Amino acid sequence: MPELPEVETIKNDLNKLARGQLILRLEVRKPKLLKPSTKAVRWAIVGKVIKQIERRGKLLIFYLNGEHLLLMHLKMTGQIVWQPPRGRFLTGGHPIVGVSSVPNRFTHLTIYFKSGARLYFNDVRQFGYWQVIAKKELPKIYSKFGPEPFSLEFTRESFWQSLKKRGRTTIKAVLLDQKVVAGIGNIYADESLFLARVRPSKRVSTLSKNNAGDIYKAIKVILARAIKARGTSFNSYVDGQGRKGTYWEKRLVYGRRGEKCKRCRNIILKTLVAGRGTHYCARCQK
Ligand SMILES: [Zn+2]
Repeated sequence: MPELPEVETIKNDLNKLARGQLILRLEVRKPKLLKPSTKAVRWAIVGKVIKQIERRGKLLIFYLNGEHLLLMHLKMTGQIVWQPPRGRFLTGGHPIVGVSSVPNRFTHLTIYFKSGARLYFNDVRQFGYWQVIAKKELPKIYSKFGPEPFSLEFTRESFWQSLKKRGRTTIKAVLLDQKVVAGIGNIYADESLFLARVRPSKRVSTLSKNNAGDIYKAIKVILARAIKARGTSFNSYVDGQGRKGTYWEKRLVYGRRGEKCKRCRNIILKTLVAGRGTHYCARCQK
């Protein structure tokens, strides 16, 4: 699933490419991906200009002229492909293995711009969505998210306080909870807990304040590192279109089952925590 670093990368790229672009037409192959309806989305975006793209958690927010905002969520397998009138494609989000042209059988939505550029939305499992809302509804959407990890409201103390409210839960489940901190998913939860030397299955009630401080710091270090690497593209992904996220090559523990721990050379294990495949080192994560 695209997590904060991947979505942040898409946002930054689109801010360079899509700003000022006038939307001419929306092609819809899968109406179920549109909220509240195809008609409402079309009415809100066609003829409008993209002003700015923001991110909250894993959600992309397109600011348009007029009264509405377009929200895009990539969920598990969503992918955005930007096709300029000429030159290289740019791909962001979930890699689709073996598919290197657009539109393809996973292309469900396409925006055509006046400039000749196109934005394709591909989604293998179709959990992603586009939603239009009135600008004044944005605070309501934002209130569903916890603090952004790089915001001033996310402090060591606020993190500790939100952990204290979730005593019996595992720390991994807490990091995946978007109300605690926005934008972390399976990969970066494992990576952060490895860096903090805390076992993912550990109950939050058994963590010390120092543990919490270590996790807090690790979250920021890992996410910053991943953003710098343009996120994670899986090694099975052959990307002939855009640049590739290189965090995969830098990863500490995720997807390294059976390989040696980078810290202590013990073998990395994989187990199920919070219903998700979870990687850790049994020797240096306590
Ligand atoms: Zn280790």
